[in-house]
Amino acid sequence: MAIIRNKSFTDNKPLLYLVATPIGNLDEFSLRAQKVLNEMDYVASEDTRNTKKLLSLFNIYKPLISLHEHNEKEASQKVIELLKNGNKVAYVSDAGYPAISDPGQKLVKEALKNEINVSVVSGSNAMLNALVASGFDTSHFYFYGFLDARKSQRENQLSELKSMQNTIIFYESPHRIMDTLKSMNKILGNRDICIARELTKIHEEYIHAPLDEIINIDETTLIGEMVIVVEGNYSKEELNDEDIIQLAKKMMSEDKTLSKKDISKLLSEQLKISKNRIYSLIINI
Ligand code: SAM
Repeated sequence: MAIIRNKSFTDNKPLLYLVATPIGNLDEFSLRAQKVLNEMDYVASEDTRNTKKLLSLFNIYKPLISLHEHNEKEASQKVIELLKNGNKVAYVSDAGYPAISDPGQKLVKEALKNEINVSVVSGSNAMLNALVASGFDTSHFYFYGFLDARKSQRENQLSELKSMQNTIIFYESPHRIMDTLKSMNKILGNRDICIARELTKIHEEYIHAPLDEIINIDETTLIGEMVIVVEGNYSKEELNDEDIIQLAKKMMSEDKTLSKKDISKLLSEQLKISKNRIYSLIINI
């Protein structure tokens, strides 16, 4: 692939907007999102009925084009033709960011192939709210999205994530939540998680718990939309002296301003092991 530099607003090229929409609370529909959508000739959307409802609440009335996971390829061609013919077009999914566990990625890929610029209007996104409120490490995280609905596939996927030290974020539907939590407890082992439920809505709730306890919670209280944030694997007993030294070296190379004392303190918080032990291991590095 050659280097291609696209200047969203100053190139003389068609521009496809991806516009984030609220994940619950309508006050999160940004002024910029409304303004951009008002300027469009067409709005392509994952579900035209939902989008029509949302836009009409903000007095935005536009011809809608249906573009969902089952027709994304063909509908993308239609959107691209419209853009090439000088029309202004934006894409919205049902909630949050298009292309994040929602349709939109194929559309973007086709647009780029057709020399159409792509720009994003920022807004709500469920994984980020859940992550920042979880209290887990936010400096490195891994977004997994949805696990497979089938138990054996789901458990294989979890096995591959077992040793990951980064915080991991999952999307899940309410009718599978308990099965997923049980699979996580079985495969990942007991560790802390945070379930972020009904984000931005009146019944918003953050449940902080260890996996081996949450699996006994009353399932009927786990309703609505949910994100599961899982703490990275810092399994203390598996960390030997060499592992700790390697982690310290990595930290030192990533931030040269950190002293050995700083590193001992930071690692001690992350790994939940004694600061003095870490310091004595790294003092001579
Ligand atoms: N595009 C969206 C985004 O940017 O966050 C995600 C869409 S995905 C189809 C739907 C999943 O996102 C839900 O099953 C749930 O895991 C999560 N989700 C969406 N809205 C949520 C909310 N208000 N509270 C908690 N989780 C939410």
